Amino acid sequence: MFELPECVILARQMNGSLKGRTVQTGVLGNSPHKFVWYNRTHQEFEALTRGKRVGDAASRGRWLFVALEPGHVLLLGECGGKVLFHAAGSPMPKKYHLCLTFEDASFFTVTTQMWGAMELYEKGAEQNRQYVKDMRPTPVDDAFTFEYFHDLIRGLEEKRSVKGLLTQDQLVPGLGNAIAQDIMFRARLHPKLPVSELSQAQKEKLHDEIVKTVQDVIARGGRCDEYDLHGRHGGYVRLMDKNAAGSPCPECGATVEKIQYLGGACYYCPS
Ligand SMILES: [Zn+2]
Repeated sequence: MFELPECVILARQMNGSLKGRTVQTGVLGNSPHKFVWYNRTHQEFEALTRGKRVGDAASRGRWLFVALEPGHVLLLGECGGKVLFHAAGSPMPKKYHLCLTFEDASFFTVTTQMWGAMELYEKGAEQNRQYVKDMRPTPVDDAFTFEYFHDLIRGLEEKRSVKGLLTQDQLVPGLGNAIAQDIMFRARLHPKLPVSELSQAQKEKLHDEIVKTVQDVIARGGRCDEYDLHGRHGGYVRLMDKNAAGSPCPECGATVEKIQYLGGACYYCPS
């Protein structure tokens, strides 16, 4: 799954490679998939995208906003998989859930592995979409201050764990199970530790590591187990993932453990 850093990178690359191109044909997938959320029929999507010019792309959390001018915004939300730009003459992927072909014969495809929203809105209406409308500040926003984070934690129920804070209910939008592992490792916090038991120093460290880890992943072009707009892997190698399980902790040498917790595996150093 793409997380916030991959979405930042994709939006940046779209502004370099897609912006200014004119859509010749827009089609929804050739591969039916019940977990892709569309809000248009095939005919509507084709009619509304034809002749549109790609404008600015932006990201917020795990959502990508691509202006199709005049008048529309393509919204790609919570996708994993591949969001790719293809130069003219490239082979078409066998499976895709959305494709925009441009007048110069280059094209853009989105293929999701798990689920994802691929929706087209009249400009402005995308801001009212569920999950976008009430999105809390994300770790790249100026509003994501320690004071904000402290208040967020104070408002949570007592049993909420560190992993729950990082991965559930869009409390910190844009984070997923992958980056959360490294944030917890860097902050030296057990995934199951209730946030109500965090000391002031631990809260500060956690806030700090959320922001720094996100910035690190962005600086390295995304995670190495994801693809960018040009089909290249990012350069950020995860510290705590399935490769780390059973291996020595990079900090202290203790054996990294794996547990199943809150809908996914957790990898952590017991010491
Ligand atoms: Zn360790």
